Amino acid sequence: MTTSFAIDAIGHIRSPYKQKFAIPRQPRLVDTARAQLVLTGEFNHEEFVRGIEEFTHIWVLFRFHETADKGYSALVRPPRLGGNARKGVFATRATFRPNAIGMSAVELLGVDYANGQVTLQLGGVDLLDGTPVLDIKPYLPYSDALPDASAGFADTRPQTQMTVSFSEQALTFIAKVDPALQLQTFITQVLQQDPRPAYKKNKEGTQSYGMTLYDFNIRWQVDGEHNHVEQISPL
Ligand code: SAM
Repeated sequence: MTTSFAIDAIGHIRSPYKQKFAIPRQPRLVDTARAQLVLTGEFNHEEFVRGIEEFTHIWVLFRFHETADKGYSALVRPPRLGGNARKGVFATRATFRPNAIGMSAVELLGVDYANGQVTLQLGGVDLLDGTPVLDIKPYLPYSDALPDASAGFADTRPQTQMTVSFSEQALTFIAKVDPALQLQTFITQVLQQDPRPAYKKNKEGTQSYGMTLYDFNIRWQVDGEHNHVEQISPL
């Protein structure tokens, strides 16, 4: 029996998420997160995706390339459990796992064939910019949607009470950005997920954070359950 395989990527992701910090923990938690799946090499051909536009959603199988060489443990600490309790890695969706394979069901917004490049337009991604794609499969509601399934410690969509406000500078900046990016809604949805690591969440006082979305640096402050976006600037 063969137990070792070589896999070639079929394409890669172009995403507004330029670093791991602030990426939502699952797809569709931030539905304004637009991305492109760019087919590469021999797979960059219309025949490989013919008919895919009939599906509203697809599974993207990918490699956690940013962390793949950092190893894995049998037990991990799911953020859901406050970073304290441990579960088996195969009982979680942790990024640090054997083979470093991820899977996300995302919205398929369109397929482009401009200039000989096949590009799938995606919505609601939880993928880092540059993520290598290993396979694509259509999402099949009759089989993949399981409304009666239970999911133990991850049974419900994560709830958040976090609110978000914007400074005058941030609003002025957003007004000049391509409206198609829906930047204000996008930033709001990202911050409502509370991207801070679990150990920072109960800290007293105001904390400052920064992240990069698209080509923009975004700085904000957290005070209790409130995020205030102070400044947005170009990279
Ligand atoms: N939906 C996928 C799954 O269940 O396999 C991914 C879930 S994983 C918990 C989501 C996190 O993976 C994101 O919040 C981000 O921090 C991380 N991530 C996304 N793309 C990555 C990449 N290419 N390399 C390493 N980490 C990545």
